[in-house]
Amino acid sequence: MTVATNQALILRNFVNGKWMDVTSEQWLDVPNPATGERLATVPMSSKKEVDEAVQAAHGAFMAWKQMPVVKRARIFFRYQQLLIEHHDELAQLVVKENGKSYKEAYGEVLRGIECVEFACGAPTHMMGQSLAGIAEEMDSEMFRYPLGVVAGITPFNFPMMVPCWMFPLALVCGNTFVLKPSERTPILANRLAELLTLAGLPAGVFNIVHGAHDVVNGLLEHRDVKAVSFVGSQPVAKYVYEQAAAKGKRVQALSGAKNHHIVMPDADLEKAVQNIVSSAFGSAGQRCMACSAVVLVGHQETFVSALKAKADEMKMGDGMNEEVLLTPVIRDSHRQKVMQWIQDAKEEGATLVRDGRQEVDHHEKGTFLGATIFDHVTPEMTIAKEEFFAPVLSILRAENLQQALAIVNGSKFGNSATLYSHDAKAIRCFREEAEPGMLGVNVGVPAPMAFFPFSGAKDSFYGDLHANGIDGINFYTRKKMITTRY
Ligand code: NAD
Repeated sequence: MTVATNQALILRNFVNGKWMDVTSEQWLDVPNPATGERLATVPMSSKKEVDEAVQAAHGAFMAWKQMPVVKRARIFFRYQQLLIEHHDELAQLVVKENGKSYKEAYGEVLRGIECVEFACGAPTHMMGQSLAGIAEEMDSEMFRYPLGVVAGITPFNFPMMVPCWMFPLALVCGNTFVLKPSERTPILANRLAELLTLAGLPAGVFNIVHGAHDVVNGLLEHRDVKAVSFVGSQPVAKYVYEQAAAKGKRVQALSGAKNHHIVMPDADLEKAVQNIVSSAFGSAGQRCMACSAVVLVGHQETFVSALKAKADEMKMGDGMNEEVLLTPVIRDSHRQKVMQWIQDAKEEGATLVRDGRQEVDHHEKGTFLGATIFDHVTPEMTIAKEEFFAPVLSILRAENLQQALAIVNGSKFGNSATLYSHDAKAIRCFREEAEPGMLGVNVGVPAPMAFFPFSGAKDSFYGDLHANGIDGINFYTRKKMITTRY
């Protein structure tokens, strides 16, 4: 089976190196959000199917763990080559099932490849430490070992990049893996499994179970799942963190966000507007790093009109069209909720500068929603507090940087924040005092690369060790000390 060449797929689970039919009573359609075309149907697997996959992963663990790390890394060198060869195909698949633009999807695939490249460094990253002579004729050494079966639970918005935050590093460290992809964008995961097989990954080392809550709960409850990597919305992240921790599992749960962009009086307005529009409305605002609130310092009235003018220029449509910047939201149910939230924000007293609801009817088949901008939003309003995950942008006002930072730090979320300024003192103050874990200076989407931790804070992250970088290595390995007297 090649997922990319079939028209309407019946998705199967991938267990022990084989594609398994699922005898589920419940299946969900997977439409292309831009056209409404049915791409696939995905099964809602049960805990029985979870158990089969975890058993397969558990069975494969010993041999995989014992394979020398250089050999495991070599499989990922081959995998990296395959991903490069299939870059265009994978990006097209992301556009189809997620709806984002081809340019964004191509970039997403590249971010995923970079995770594999980092994982290829495992022989270096997994090195321990040693100290000779801790006492007379005594040495101490630290070794790293894999944990066992690791589960990954992923969201719809990055079907390539987010799974790649997890399985390449977990596997190269010697763990085996069960992936539960988003039921809204499940297709690409199967292609990743096909390419892993082509790269030479042994059966059972990587498994996929499609579904929703039951699969997640099955993984959280399973005795043989030793660690859980989760990325998704805040309430689910908190639930996964609490449940997994209560069962004694390691867990990292990356969660929702409300990302502020502070525009200082000295900012280059043209560049700030350009960055904010693409951060807020690119991928239809469905990025955990999307700018959803601007904090305007000083009375920059020209900023609001420039922002609106730039948003007016955006072409809306299918992500395969090169000129398109504004792509659909994931489902109509989400669009309906967002439209209600827009109405609520208006009733709470925010000034509607641009109403994206007016552009809904022009694109009947896709789940499109125009760019929406609210001005004079205050920190108490729901729109300032909650994540909408849609092309909706709020503008708040502050007298100075300290007031702006108070707004940023008043949020329960702490994923990212950006400052637009060239004033060294302001930049330093922002770096020292802003609470979010990923900061940008004159950068619209300050996402760290794969060799750094993806380091959200507060309610944007539950756990200790973040995804990627050395944090990722520490998360997917346990340490053992040996102290020897000779
Ligand atoms: P979601 O929480 O709806 O789903 C994420 C995963 O959890 C899916 O696999 C889903 O099947 C499962 N799930 C959903 N509800 C569940 C429940 N009640 N019980 C058990 N499992 C459940 O998230 P989404 O809408 O797919 O993704 C968007 C969210 O992810 C946004 O909040 C976004 O900010 C967040 N996100 C965060 C990061 C980050 O790095 N912090 C990155 C990407 C996305």
